[in-house]
Amino acid sequence: MNQRINRRKLITGGLVGAAAVAAGCGTKAGTGAGAATGGLGKRVRWTLASSFPSSLDTIYGAAEVLAARVAEMSGGQFTIRVMEAGELVGAMQVLDSVQNGAAQIGQTGGYYYTGKDAALAFDTCVPFGLTARQQTAWLMEGGGLELMREVYADFGIINFPGGNTGAQMGGWFKNPVGGMDDLKGLKMRIPGQGGKVMDALGVNVQVLAGGDIYPALERGAIDATEWVGPYDDEKLGFYKVAKNYYYPGWWEPGPNLSFLVNQAAWDELPAEYKAMIEAATREGATAMMTRYDAKNPAAWKRLLEQDITVRRFPEDILAAARVAAEELLETEAAADARYAKILGQWRKFRDDSFDWFGAAELSYMDFAMGGSALGK
Ligand code: CA
Repeated sequence: MNQRINRRKLITGGLVGAAAVAAGCGTKAGTGAGAATGGLGKRVRWTLASSFPSSLDTIYGAAEVLAARVAEMSGGQFTIRVMEAGELVGAMQVLDSVQNGAAQIGQTGGYYYTGKDAALAFDTCVPFGLTARQQTAWLMEGGGLELMREVYADFGIINFPGGNTGAQMGGWFKNPVGGMDDLKGLKMRIPGQGGKVMDALGVNVQVLAGGDIYPALERGAIDATEWVGPYDDEKLGFYKVAKNYYYPGWWEPGPNLSFLVNQAAWDELPAEYKAMIEAATREGATAMMTRYDAKNPAAWKRLLEQDITVRRFPEDILAAARVAAEELLETEAAADARYAKILGQWRKFRDDSFDWFGAAELSYMDFAMGGSALGK
């Protein structure tokens, strides 16, 4: 009898233990624990403000994937209306619109808002920083998401990684850039930390939304622009008005876009809908990266048939940019303790990751693909 009681106690203890472990996992994920359950069937309507034009099925497409999957998973009860840049708010006002609740969710790049908090650059990318896989690994498994959520919490926002473009091209220049002297006074559209580095190198930096770039380039308001890579760049038509296509896009080796959710709207969601957002943002993120990787090669071929010249940035510019980029990180860290904490953690991750990827990925790519790369 005593034995049976003891065993029952043991079993009960085991179940409690398992429940505690499960709850612990939820807490570690940082989102599901403590939420109300039994919310399936609740009618929820959200509006999503995107920073991107609907013509870009790669980047904007990730928001459409998110909305479609959430609607499917909830049996049509949780719907998200996706609005392109300029429809609800301008491309650069997405964070503000989520913060003030005009939109419950946004799709944007954290680095558009470095004027509000310089550390938001780490959410997207830093010049000479991480590639797409490294950035995703840092955010999802390397402690990056926890650090970035500290920053977004200041705005009443919880962020979810939302996809990556992969390494970008260095952009379109009306005239060739032969060296450092040619950067002085050059009017170029380039956002984020890349823009700050270009500014340090003497460039007249502009930040324009995707849909505003072509007209500015065409009428000569800017001399150069960067956007993403062949597939998007072809759609936006830059090759028609700027004939020099530069590489590498050292300022955006693997930029992550983010879904930003208003914290109060998040808190009101049933646990099931929170899980849907977590799963569907991951699916949208995967769709973005795989669409770029599948569509860029063909677009690259088509662009090479146009009347353009593909050029590598001169070595003096690359070297000076790398020095300026590291100086920028140091300067910004000196002004902000939280930024310094993020930079320290991020740098260790980058250095270790570069060691490993340099051994495995780079050596393979160099051998297997190096022969076909840009006239080698
Ligand atoms: Ca870019």
